[in-house]
Amino acid sequence: MRVPLVAGNWKLNKTAAEARELIAEMLPGLQAVENVDSLVCPPYLAIPAAAELLDGTKVALGAQNIYWETEGAFTAEVSPKMAAEFCQFVIIGHSERRAYFGETDQTVNRRVKAALEFDLIPVVCVGETLEENEAGKTSEVVMRQMRDGLAGVAIGSADQLVIAYEPVWAIGTGKAAYPDDASRVIGKSIRPVLAELFGEEISQGVRVLYGGSVKPENAADFFNEEEVDGALVGGASLKAADFVAITEAAG
Ligand code: PEP
Repeated sequence: MRVPLVAGNWKLNKTAAEARELIAEMLPGLQAVENVDSLVCPPYLAIPAAAELLDGTKVALGAQNIYWETEGAFTAEVSPKMAAEFCQFVIIGHSERRAYFGETDQTVNRRVKAALEFDLIPVVCVGETLEENEAGKTSEVVMRQMRDGLAGVAIGSADQLVIAYEPVWAIGTGKAAYPDDASRVIGKSIRPVLAELFGEEISQGVRVLYGGSVKPENAADFFNEEEVDGALVGGASLKAADFVAITEAAG
């Protein structure tokens, strides 16, 4: 059985001081939820403060991106080695990175390999745009993102990788996908590629999250779907009560 994972992507929100407040507010609730893994991904400058507060708790810490080089003349970048000093997870290939910062399946691939080299668990985001969805290309797009983003990636066990299916049109729009549609994409287009790449046994153990306008009101509908192993939450992860409620719904 896959243990559900509820992950919060804070994006470009919260100073270090604000992050301390938010974590202090949500921590008791998150600690009380059993049989669900939780993860928060603050912006980089807040990560050391978050690490201090989360040390010894069951809430994991993640970065929102990494560069693939370990060190060198790459102004403003953060290496996997630096992130791994504080974090256990890293989000890779979020649609905002793809849309605004030129991420491609090829750069996603380099980042995934770099993360694994430093024992960071990549949360690899895939998902179609509205245009691709309306043109009936969801499966084609998601399978390509999976195959190209994970080409040549080696994992020894299912817990070294997390996938997030995030239809781009559902992110930050308040318009979530239908839970059964999300489950179908995961079951028909994501898990089969995992099996192709890593074998049947590992593919059955990899957690695949849904992301896109998940709120306390709709979270349980997603978690009731067999193929949905948790959520990647943006907006609602910035409100302690909402993030705790979503995590509880996964239990
Ligand atoms: C996200 O940023 O990954 C996301 C799903 O955002 P939201 O929950 O705000 O739609």
